[in-house]
Amino acid sequence: MANKNIPYKINLEESDIPQAWYNVRADMKTQHRPILHPGTLQPVVPDDLRPVFCDELVAQELDDKNRFIEIPQPVRNFYKMYRPAPLVRAYFLEKELDTPAKIYYKYEGGNTSGSHKLNSSIAQAYYAKEQGLKGVTTETGAGQWGTALSMACGYFGLDCRVYMVKVSAEQKPYRKAVMETYGATVTASPSDTTNIGKKILSENPDTTGSLGCAISEAVEAAVSTEGYRYVLGSVLNQVLIHQSVVGLEAKAAMEKYGEYPDIVIGCAGGGSNLGGLMAPFMGDRLAGKASPYFIAVEPASCPSLTRGRFAYDFCDTGKVTPLAKMYTLGSSFIPASNHAGGLRYHGMSPILSQLYHDGYLDEARAVGQLSVFDAAKTFARVEGLLPAPESAHAIRAAIDEALKCKESGEAKTILFGLTGTGYFDLSAYMQYNDGTMEDYVPTDEDLQRGFDGLPDLPGVE
Ligand SMILES: *Cc1c(COP(=O)(O)O)cnc(C)c1O
Repeated sequence: MANKNIPYKINLEESDIPQAWYNVRADMKTQHRPILHPGTLQPVVPDDLRPVFCDELVAQELDDKNRFIEIPQPVRNFYKMYRPAPLVRAYFLEKELDTPAKIYYKYEGGNTSGSHKLNSSIAQAYYAKEQGLKGVTTETGAGQWGTALSMACGYFGLDCRVYMVKVSAEQKPYRKAVMETYGATVTASPSDTTNIGKKILSENPDTTGSLGCAISEAVEAAVSTEGYRYVLGSVLNQVLIHQSVVGLEAKAAMEKYGEYPDIVIGCAGGGSNLGGLMAPFMGDRLAGKASPYFIAVEPASCPSLTRGRFAYDFCDTGKVTPLAKMYTLGSSFIPASNHAGGLRYHGMSPILSQLYHDGYLDEARAVGQLSVFDAAKTFARVEGLLPAPESAHAIRAAIDEALKCKESGEAKTILFGLTGTGYFDLSAYMQYNDGTMEDYVPTDEDLQRGFDGLPDLPGVE
């Protein structure tokens, strides 16, 4: 079976789109520590979260029992427009590297949002619509999530208000144009439209913004507007559930040819694409059925897993959100304005954090921006696709693992997530091409300032 001729692109049928998402928490040996209410410091109950999130998403957020969660038919119907996403055997990259390794990638950049984020935005918009809400608010960093949510809200007829990290709004005006075309309102963050935005601006007038600030503004806008809820494109358990569609499809496609990954690699910003890609394989590992090796790749400029603390922290800079126990650089940490906007978050998914802490997510690796773009360029040249800078972090690690195989002579099977297209990142590619791109790695003192802002919680582990 394994020697069967494997095509360049493994096509699945529309009927192979999963009927249900997989919730890895149902199989985890240790659950992440509970999310805490920011006022009482007690574990949140559904009623605490309902003013912020839709009811069904609150249930998914707190669900550590149900292994499978049915994908509602309208969401499956939408998925049919752009899924199954291709699983590609990177024959030309293998040849370029002269490696015995087999390299596969799951490509999620083929839809207009340009990334995997549409998989969750369409689900979140659906539940908001079902609940009879008028609209949703959110933040966006690089713009992929805002675009994905605008598309989903446009489809279901919901109002969409996006707070976009200021530096990204400046670097990527075309993103704004796409979001507005789908009917969204886009505000550069921090802004003077919210109390928290005004406060952040008064303390730090020249700030280029961060995801943490934008989240604070979006949450404030949601809870102070009748008929609105807040939605988030990463980090949360519900988002990892929705993104499991990526891993389920990848697994089904590989199984068609008797293939199974030895190594699973994903870039990690808030952890949703890696969490989704690895979910079914992690399920096998937790059940003792297989032992794939998992690698999370993050930017050296925002190294939450590799240099962060495993601690309770706020999910936003304004400290209005609940506290989660996660690997974090501190909610006041504002990373250098590197070009992988989707990876500039201070924390990491509590699920991924727990799996990393417990040794199931085997390795986290921080890579520099220049080496990431070197990998992106090699990949684009031989495989044809122009990758998003975020995705190129995973390419970097996949190439490095394949080169290790070349040295050892092992023919390992590598699977990585190619989360998006680089078409909206051309200013970054321009800098890379004209040699003005720089690497920025925070010093220990820089990181210490973030850690100093971690909340002091007596009696809470
Ligand atoms: C948002 C984004 C990421 C990082 O987010 P995760 O939640 O860690 O997956 C990676 N790649 C692309 C293209 C993105 O848009």
